[in-house]
Amino acid sequence: MIAIQSLTRRVFLRQLGTTSLAIAVFGLSACSTSSDPGDAPVTQPDATNQPLEPPPSAPSATTNRPVETTAVPTSLPPVSYRRVNLGFVSAYILVRSGSAAIVDTGVAGSAPDIEAGLAAVGLGWKNVEHLILTHRHDDHVGSVDAVLAGAVSAVSYAGEAEIDRIPSPVPIVAVGDGDEVFGLQIINTPGHTDGHISVLDPVGGILVAGDALNGAGGGIIGANPQYSSDMETANESVKKLAGLSFDTILFGHGEPVEGGAQVLLAELAAGL
Ligand SMILES: [Zn+2]
Repeated sequence: MIAIQSLTRRVFLRQLGTTSLAIAVFGLSACSTSSDPGDAPVTQPDATNQPLEPPPSAPSATTNRPVETTAVPTSLPPVSYRRVNLGFVSAYILVRSGSAAIVDTGVAGSAPDIEAGLAAVGLGWKNVEHLILTHRHDDHVGSVDAVLAGAVSAVSYAGEAEIDRIPSPVPIVAVGDGDEVFGLQIINTPGHTDGHISVLDPVGGILVAGDALNGAGGGIIGANPQYSSDMETANESVKKLAGLSFDTILFGHGEPVEGGAQVLLAELAAGL
């Protein structure tokens, strides 16, 4: 058997020659199940130059075993986001294919601003399928009632330790590490509160950090010690987030960092 681990697919096919046509055809069909553009080199992951998580389109055409179709992630488009700037705090509308997930609701009285944010991206309450609450503080859950009065079909989510402390007209679903909502990964980021969660769109590279991080003049700082219950744990959560792959971070407080956010967060985490 020839060594194919580090070959591009084209070289792979050329070296196979005509007698291995069946395998070559298999290789092509395996690639066609992903969103991989046909001309991209197909190489084995290089441990020194690889994101922590494999890209969703990573094909396995360089192996000879059958592709397990259940292991191929669904190809979702990235979410786009709309910031609802409520003054000292922000809520976020994450949009994908005409549907929305809202992350946090701001203080009481914020629902009209959130509704205006939805309208600005061509949506309304009826398009809101999910309401994700990063944590229980009033400036994040103050408008849960009003948002759910509009978004009547939305399902609500929060970290398990928060749920009993969040006033909500409907039951809230407990989520944490390993859970997925709207194609978004839920990440436990305790410390600011014990059940704080963050939200990652792995396709678009957007991290919604709630109050696990704060924006500060275009930069990033950790949880606010004045309002956090356990700073040691909060700093561990910062390090945990720094190990993820993203380009943009959206904060509960402060201006979003768009582009290069992972590098900035890694620098912050290294100093903790
Ligand atoms: Zn908070």
